[in-house]
Amino acid sequence: MTTAAARSVNEQAPAGWQTFGHEGARKFLLRALNTARLAHAYLLAGPPGIGKMSLAMDLARAVNCLAPEPASRPCGACRSCQRITRGLHADVTVIDPDTPIENEKARAAEETTSRRVIRKGLIDDLEHRASLKPFEGRYRVFIIDGAELMLAPAANALLKTLEEPESNVLITLLTPSPSSLPETIASRCQRIDLRPVPVDVLERGLMERAGANAENAKTLARIAQGRPGWALSALADATALDRRRQAVYRIMAALVGSIEDRFRYARSLSTVLRKDRGSVADEMALWVSWWRDVLLIGHGLEHAIANEDYRDALHAVSSVIGTSEAAKAVRAVQSAARALERNAMTPLVFEVMMLDMPRVDAGLLPAASGGEASVDSTWAPPEDS
Ligand SMILES: [Zn+2]
Repeated sequence: MTTAAARSVNEQAPAGWQTFGHEGARKFLLRALNTARLAHAYLLAGPPGIGKMSLAMDLARAVNCLAPEPASRPCGACRSCQRITRGLHADVTVIDPDTPIENEKARAAEETTSRRVIRKGLIDDLEHRASLKPFEGRYRVFIIDGAELMLAPAANALLKTLEEPESNVLITLLTPSPSSLPETIASRCQRIDLRPVPVDVLERGLMERAGANAENAKTLARIAQGRPGWALSALADATALDRRRQAVYRIMAALVGSIEDRFRYARSLSTVLRKDRGSVADEMALWVSWWRDVLLIGHGLEHAIANEDYRDALHAVSSVIGTSEAAKAVRAVQSAARALERNAMTPLVFEVMMLDMPRVDAGLLPAASGGEASVDSTWAPPEDS
């Protein structure tokens, strides 16, 4: 066996590794772990559904796995791996805006706000636990999901912990928008940017590891925009494809709609956003992929489009919207997405985005204008639960 082949075998994913794709990140982290060069804190950045939490959990299992051979950690089978997977391990804590604050006094002192935020009390809890020896594993692991949602006092408290790291403590911050974290925090973490997972990796993973049939795997891998989390939840949820179809019709209706239709759509986006950020993030990602496909067709790269099932509609749009206008539309959506990350005034953000969208003639997209009687450009907000 050649050295290169030996190395590639050695660097195959351990049996318990669950993250789809992101091989570079996997090798980087496991090499750091196995050569005792693990950082105290990591910042995993990437859009929703890309695999940040999955990677953070794999790392949590790897550092606490009981398999005797370091190269086979995480094994996925030992008591420690299993307890982490089931959320029972005493040394692995996930913190997000819904985590209850343990310290009662701290809880009572927090201001109430309807925004989803990570409060200082949660970071105080983290600091307290981090000062204790691991209870059952080798590392105390803290995963902060939605690190950009930390209020300033929480961020300041975390900074103190990051400045004086305890050994055997691993802190992993997850965020879709690393630029909204204070630089003082970001600079104390090793940053890993998670990029979209290639279509073929996703397709294979969906079949081999999630039991998808070939047809579903192919469709989902193409429209997932590189986000395994999205593909997996779509596979588990029979209504996901239908929701996407509705979203595509909303986009087409907005493209052919009057200014009033567009503003109504913009308002419905901000209404949904208050209850369900994830769905709006999906909708924005769909807008980007829509215009990206129009751009690709304009450049003769039709084989690479994501929304293959809407090929005809994309062609129709591409026939009247030039590549520079499509590129401008992509930028308009991306700038709206960035404004949302900064918690800007949402109705205004969506209205500006819609003003920047090119308009196409209704005759070009028959499906958006009467073809589907039930489809409207507005989006009904989810029911209160
Ligand atoms: Zn294990």
